[in-house]
Amino acid sequence: MLSNIRIVLIGTTHPGNIGAVARAMKNMCLKQLVLVSPRIFPSAEATARASGADDLLANALVCGTLERAIEGCRLVVGASARLRTVEWPRLEPRACAEKLVAECRGGADVALLFGRESSGLSNAELDRCHYLVHIPANPEFSSLNLSQAVQVLGYELHIAELALQQASVGEDKVTPGGLVTADIMESFFRHLQQTMEDIGFSNPRQSDKLQRRLRRLFLRARPDRDEINILRGILSAAQGRKSMRRN
Ligand code: SAH
Repeated sequence: MLSNIRIVLIGTTHPGNIGAVARAMKNMCLKQLVLVSPRIFPSAEATARASGADDLLANALVCGTLERAIEGCRLVVGASARLRTVEWPRLEPRACAEKLVAECRGGADVALLFGRESSGLSNAELDRCHYLVHIPANPEFSSLNLSQAVQVLGYELHIAELALQQASVGEDKVTPGGLVTADIMESFFRHLQQTMEDIGFSNPRQSDKLQRRLRRLFLRARPDRDEINILRGILSAAQGRKSMRRN
């Protein structure tokens, strides 16, 4: 999904930084590199610093204007080394990554802009952004190396994407077929209560509070049918042992 995210480098001076950005991107599963008016590109230094991520360099789009770089993008975020005096809608790196990834999942193209080594992004470039993102750093020394800024924000994007992937694996588990209905849950709770009484763990008078806590625990877990069957199997086994001892 991260393939809809464009990492746009504007006016990069050092080709080594471009290569290092490609490497940072590939580490974090980002694919689309866009270079707006790089001073030197392509270059052997960029390729050397990419150390194996030269496919990203080969596929990079090189263009002359920011307009071209962000054409078709629904969301544009600018990475800024300084907290500007001008009030601009701002996102923390984590929230920024979540927003970009969510937009991508919705099918949109999005862009994250990075400025020049010497002067960052111009005000005119910031005007193109919906939000600014700033990596919290030492207030006296807040400017990261370009590729390291890409690395930090790329990491957040990767983590946000992984979290969404895991959430959808969880959703699969609760497909209508696997969902246990309220009545199955209720008969499980009755079975649980009965077993607790049978094995002498609790008696009917004192068990209300305990039952409520256990209900909360199992309802929070949202077990599926197989899991309920396993739990009921354990309860039946416990009841069986108890009655075996009685006999
Ligand atoms: N001297 C420039 C900083 C350039 S660093 C300035 O003061 O603006 C090159 C680029 O890396 C920046 O334009 C920005 O896109 C990114 N960057 C560096 N440090 C950052 C930080 N702390 N937060 C967000 N982006 C940062």
